[in-house]
This record gives sequence, C-alpha cells and structure tokens, in this order.
Amino acid sequence: MAEQDTGRQRFINSPLKTKKRVYREVENPLWWAYTKILREHDKTKKTYAVNPYAEVYQFRTNLFGIYTESLDGMGDPWMFLIEGPEKAFLIDTGFGIGNLPGLLKEIIGGKPVIVANTHAHFDHAYGNFWFDKVYCHEYEAPLLTSKMDPHIWDYLFDETGRGRWCDFDKADLVPFRKYEICGVPDGYKFNLGGDYEIELIFLPGHSPGHAAFLDRQNRIFFAGDDACVGTTGIMGIFGAPEDTPYREHVTVESLRNELARVIKRSNEFDGVFPSHGIVDTGVIVLSNLLETCDKVLENPKNYDIRNENDIGLTGSKSVFYGKMVSMSGYLIYSANSVYMGRKIAIE
Ligand SMILES: [Zn+2]
Repeated sequence: MAEQDTGRQRFINSPLKTKKRVYREVENPLWWAYTKILREHDKTKKTYAVNPYAEVYQFRTNLFGIYTESLDGMGDPWMFLIEGPEKAFLIDTGFGIGNLPGLLKEIIGGKPVIVANTHAHFDHAYGNFWFDKVYCHEYEAPLLTSKMDPHIWDYLFDETGRGRWCDFDKADLVPFRKYEICGVPDGYKFNLGGDYEIELIFLPGHSPGHAAFLDRQNRIFFAGDDACVGTTGIMGIFGAPEDTPYREHVTVESLRNELARVIKRSNEFDGVFPSHGIVDTGVIVLSNLLETCDKVLENPKNYDIRNENDIGLTGSKSVFYGKMVSMSGYLIYSANSVYMGRKIAIE
C-alpha cells in the first residue's frame, strides 16, 4: 500500500478548499466511479459559503449526507444529519476542518443537534471540538478520551507546516477545547421529538466500541466503517492501540457476533449507509460481509491477498490479510484481530 501522488489517481472535479496531493490508498475503482458520478452530477448537491470544505447531499426528505475530503490521504468520510421534529441528529464530525455548526445552521436552521460518533478515529471524531457534548458507545469512550489532545492534528503537517497529504488552511481547523464525552450502552435511544428515535447499535470490529445507528422512520441502518462497500478493515493496531480497554472487540469474531444480530433485525431497514464511499446500499452488503467473517474464522490462513505495511508510529512492519467479500471488496484483518482474546500465527 504505497503512497502515490494525485497525478496517478483519476480526477474528480471538486469545488472544495481541500486540495489533495498524495493518496495513501490504492484507488478503488468502485468508489471512484460512484464518487465521480455523485460529486459531479447529483442534483441535490449543495455547497455553502460558510464552509468551503463540505458538500451537502439530500438523500431523503430529512436526511443529509455531508461529504468532506480526507486530510490524511485515506478515504473521504461521510457525516450524516437527520432532522427530527424537534431535534436533529449528527452522525460523526469529520476531521474538524471548516465551520461545522455554521453549516448545520444553513441546512436545518437553529434546531438543536445531538452529536454522536460511530467511532473515535481521526476522520470521524476530530470535529467533536465544535460541540459541548458528544455521544458514543461506552466501549469507545476510553479511545475517544485519549484523543482529547490539542496535538491530534500534528501528524497532518510536515516540518514546514504544509499538509502532508492535502493542502488546506490550518486556520480553518476547529480550535481545541474540552467537551463532554458521553458513553452509552447498546440499544440506547436518542429522541428527536415525538416518537422519532435513533437507536445506537453496538457493531465493533473496526474499533472497540464502534457504533452503528438505526433510523427506523427512514428504514436506514448507518453502518459506520464496519461494512463499507470496497474495504472493511479490522486491523489490530489501526483499530486501537494495544493497551486500549475492550480491544478484544477489534476482531473479526466480535464483528461477526454483532453483525449476525443486526442481520436478524433486517426487517427494520432497507437502506444501508456506510461512512465511506458508496451509500444508500442494501442489507446484502451486511450478509455478504457476514459470510466472509465466517470464512476467516473458519480458516484465517485461507486469505486472498496479503499486504505489508510500515507502521510509522512504531517503526515496525505489520502484515495484513484480505478475504474477498462478494460484490464488494475485501475484509482486511491481522493476526491479532481474528479471534477475541488471542493472537494467532497466520504464516
Ligand atoms: Zn473512517
């Protein structure tokens, strides 16, 4: 997975203030084609002067997708905004680039907003500092707390202060300040007024307390990074550092257990919205992924692809394996992210 400059990736016309320079992921043809059509031709797309880093798409009457470009060369993250009768619900906060509260105000007026994270990673939670209080699954709270640090964005810049992977104005990053992290259990319901509820559903794997969200009114399941079309990564060190509480859930086994539970409830939703790439997809994404989880658990040595990665932070090499997911891409895993509570030797 070598870095490559933008010249080697195919072009998508973008009005955003972020200017990508280097990609850290090999171009995924599915994502590229989908994203190009969406970003260049979708009729609901809007941009607002208050935040030149975001494109806003309207997927349902009261459901908006906020698209921002990744600042660190990885996949561009989605945020989702659901407008209820009295309150709105924001899923994820991006990297913290651009005025997010100002943008929400443009979309839904002054309605109060409940903010929740699928997980604590940079591209989903670093914009939390715009808000006073952010919800997450209780097992994700320790990891999210570890990001309460004014230096979390340092890795984005080189010695000269220029963005390593992307050019943007540093002054447009959210100012650091403490906010309240509120960890809640599986099944917790957020009331948006009347009987409009959003349910948090524990769906670990990508991180220890990764959460999905169910909007029963729109019949939509927001899958976070645990069921992306293309690549789903259940990768030890990238999921959470070794000593993170509940890290046994950064495993294919834990994802498999909870995914099976979600699929049993698939009479409650039709649309599946992952946090990267292709959205408004269906339950088949989840069932195909479950099938692949079962294959990996049955024999982790029977992988389809193998990748070696430099872990910049530790200086050590990490090996990742990929098992093909039907009609999607790969489930990526490592030796310490297959079974709960034990590391195995894959080769
Ligand atoms: Zn992500």
